[in-house]
Amino acid sequence: MNERNAPDHRRSRRADGTDGTDRTSRPSIGRRALLVGGVAAGLGALGYAARDEVARTWWRVPGVDRPRTEGEVDHPGADWLPASEANWRRADRPYDYTVDRVVIHVIQGPYPVALKVFQDPSHRAATHYVVRTSDGKVTQMVRELDVAYHAGNREYNERSVGIEHEGFVDRPETITDATYRASAALTAGICDRYGLPRDREHIIGHVEVPGTDHTDPGPHWDWDRYMRMVRDVPVRKA
Ligand SMILES: [Zn+2]
Repeated sequence: MNERNAPDHRRSRRADGTDGTDRTSRPSIGRRALLVGGVAAGLGALGYAARDEVARTWWRVPGVDRPRTEGEVDHPGADWLPASEANWRRADRPYDYTVDRVVIHVIQGPYPVALKVFQDPSHRAATHYVVRTSDGKVTQMVRELDVAYHAGNREYNERSVGIEHEGFVDRPETITDATYRASAALTAGICDRYGLPRDREHIIGHVEVPGTDHTDPGPHWDWDRYMRMVRDVPVRKA
């Protein structure tokens, strides 16, 4: 998020520039799109929102989903607090979409507000994780196998895991050592899970997502320090 669409202003503009879907001008043809293609094509101008609805319905067919355990998290030690289902899309990553990016955000607001708006169906956006300033506490709100609406770009949503950090882009003191430390462990774990190099090609800021008008994590996010910390996290054996 950024200062132009902080959670407080979500009525006028939703986080991450979405308008309720994670569409972009460029259609993505994934395995699911092909599977539901016949139906989706018939929906024509109704567009992505309707096609997503079809996709979601399809995924609800019994026997299709991989087993999920309520409360299970992908990052050890994270709390689980589910985001509203309106703010993400059910998927089966990395089997249907390749995960090859971590997207770093700064909330432009307090931690409790992020938790609250991600549970609000009218927000239509959420990240997989939220990191707290004071102690680096991590809450997971969307499973990594699912597509969270956070990048404002459909393709990037499908290929990435999103992390929100409590803080403000213009107040560097809100991004603490605890923030960097917890986030580095989280990002290193994501890279290890999907076999990604721990580099700036695969770990990007929201500002670097093509087509975005967002500025987070902002000029005060210390990328050199952060990347050093990410690389220093011991590789976890699968
Ligand atoms: Zn953002």
